[in-house]
Amino acid sequence: MLELGAITKSFGKNTILHQVSLRVRKGEVCSIIGPSGAGKSTLLRCINLLEQPDSGNMSLNGNFYDVSFPLRQDELLSLRRTCGMVFQSFNLFPHMTVLQNVVFPQRHVLRRNESEAREVALKLLDRVGLKNKASSHPTQLSGGQQQRVAIARALALEPKLMLFDEPTSALDPELAHEVLDVMRELADSGMTMVVVTHEMNFARTVGDHLVVMADGHKIEEGIPEAIMDHPQQSRTRQFLSAVN
Ligand code: ATP
Ligand code: MG
Repeated sequence: MLELGAITKSFGKNTILHQVSLRVRKGEVCSIIGPSGAGKSTLLRCINLLEQPDSGNMSLNGNFYDVSFPLRQDELLSLRRTCGMVFQSFNLFPHMTVLQNVVFPQRHVLRRNESEAREVALKLLDRVGLKNKASSHPTQLSGGQQQRVAIARALALEPKLMLFDEPTSALDPELAHEVLDVMRELADSGMTMVVVTHEMNFARTVGDHLVVMADGHKIEEGIPEAIMDHPQQSRTRQFLSAVN
């Protein structure tokens, strides 16, 4: 589903990603962990080209892209439609109701008509347990509820791949739980996911594949349990003991 080849990215003189390669199969959940500043968010943002890599290539859902150069506008739009993204801060449209938040991108990106978009939105809000909040505004919701709306909004565009950047790190543990439950169900439904997270239990029990990053390098990867229980790199051991 997703293959990154030697993605390199610098900001000014600082190289943030050093030839990072990654492979995520269809239906797989890939978790990315590592210390602050490792380049995890930058890597995720390179996948949907919110950041333009300096060099590298990417194959996504059967399409091959040389990402050393900016893509054509139509390629970029198609790539962005393939990936849904959920951020740490929920980024809902504050002036719209919950329902409108999920309807809006369908109207503007997929050109769905209003009644179809509403129907899809209500189904997705039901799926994340928030149908009864459809007419609320984001400020009237808890952080966990807002994040679940953000997930429903991303799913409304029928992505093939979902990218999550620390979706629960701004939440209290009990609110994080309700978001993690929705993510777990999404994984069970067969969605391909790349998840930057500090939730080791999620990475262990839901993740199929674990990638450890440090200083812009992928330093270790494999089966989550194997890495967590028997890390090969001292940098991984150091990170794991700090988060556990
Ligand atoms: P965290 O766990 O704190 O979210 P991270 O692993 O996601 O960290 P990134 O946000 O990818 O790390 O940042 C990696 C490095 O790139 C950091 O040193 C950061 O300062 C730098 N960086 C990120 N974005 C930019 C930018 N737009 N301009 C300059 N430097 C940046
Ligand atoms: Mg980050």
